[in-house]
Amino acid sequence: MLTDLKPQAPDKILALMAAFRDDPRPGKIDLGVGVYKDASGRTPIMRAVKAAERQLVETQETKTYTGLAGDPAFADALSALILGPDAPRDRLACAAQPGGTGAIRQGLELIRMAAPGARLWLSNPTWPNHPAIAAYLGIETPSYRYFDAETGGVDFDGMMADLAEVAPGDAVILHGCCHNPTGANLTPDQWRDVAALLTRRGAVPFVDIAYQGFGDGLEPDAEGTRILARTVPEMLIAASCSKNFGIYRERTGLLMAIAPSTDAVPVTQGALAMLNRMNFSFPPDHGARVVTTILTDDALRADWEAELEEVRLGMLGLREQLAAALRDRVGSDRFGFLAAHRGMFSRLGATPEQVEAMRRDHGVYMVGDSRMNIAGLNSATVPLLADAIVAAGV
Ligand code: PMP
Repeated sequence: MLTDLKPQAPDKILALMAAFRDDPRPGKIDLGVGVYKDASGRTPIMRAVKAAERQLVETQETKTYTGLAGDPAFADALSALILGPDAPRDRLACAAQPGGTGAIRQGLELIRMAAPGARLWLSNPTWPNHPAIAAYLGIETPSYRYFDAETGGVDFDGMMADLAEVAPGDAVILHGCCHNPTGANLTPDQWRDVAALLTRRGAVPFVDIAYQGFGDGLEPDAEGTRILARTVPEMLIAASCSKNFGIYRERTGLLMAIAPSTDAVPVTQGALAMLNRMNFSFPPDHGARVVTTILTDDALRADWEAELEEVRLGMLGLREQLAAALRDRVGSDRFGFLAAHRGMFSRLGATPEQVEAMRRDHGVYMVGDSRMNIAGLNSATVPLLADAIVAAGV
């Protein structure tokens, strides 16, 4: 049996990480994997996470199973963080998941269960796991225009033209903030236009929000999701706590479904619980409990927000430094979009050959589509990257 298995294509980012590790050059720069790093290259445990874990060790009295949908207090706390005070609570069904990826997988399973022929529209480009998981589940994935390579911004007219073709009942993945891999995002007015269009078309938005707090701040980063939640009759939201709480390996996420009516909530909630049971039974709890502890304790929450804000401002500062270093070198604002992008990533717009030249000649490692993890930089490496970009002729 096992000898009949076909080899899987290697994961490009993991291969890039291995190549970086094996590179003996001391000045090498890792802009590959999507993990936040501080100026010294470490991915620290946030102070509030450590404190909440200490508290849990002291006070937790059991580790027996939670409910199939996880601890309801986690769903309450995280849905409030994302959806804000106007959350349509009475139409909300939630289930904790192993990370944002787990939430996306279960959301797609829910779509397939409820509407077997529905297609899933994806931005071009998008996070590669979106098409990969959809293909694995046999869901068709047309794409809508998103990134304008000329300006480094969103091709909003193209996006709206493509989304006008969405069929009733189709689902549309939208990155809640900090678009991965491009860094280019919608304005609140554009979110309103998308919400109105999808409502008119009878399509179901599926928001993937994995970087709340990494872009313009916790509240502004949730604005697009909130606009949709206020407007559309039904939607799905896959939330990840991996980045904004820095608890990647704890696998902490939440799938939220806003049902068209309160009457539809029990059936939706039942479907979410059943999908958890079929896939893994009970979701992981430790990370979820840490998040709940932080969000429901004023002091821990304030400390978490302060540390997250330092992280966000650090990345913004690096963006500005990089854009300025490139402005000095090329004599124009051609790379100004790097400062306008938000989140951990930016698509530089280099060809695969230029990406390869930067790796070969300068030890700069970025993903082949020229996605750069801005958090992989520090003040000392920004000028080196700017030199590499110019030398490669980007
Ligand atoms: N969505 C996007 C766009 C992401 O970039 C990520 C993390 N790479 C995720 C979802 C999910 O991350 P995780 O499963 O680690 O929570």
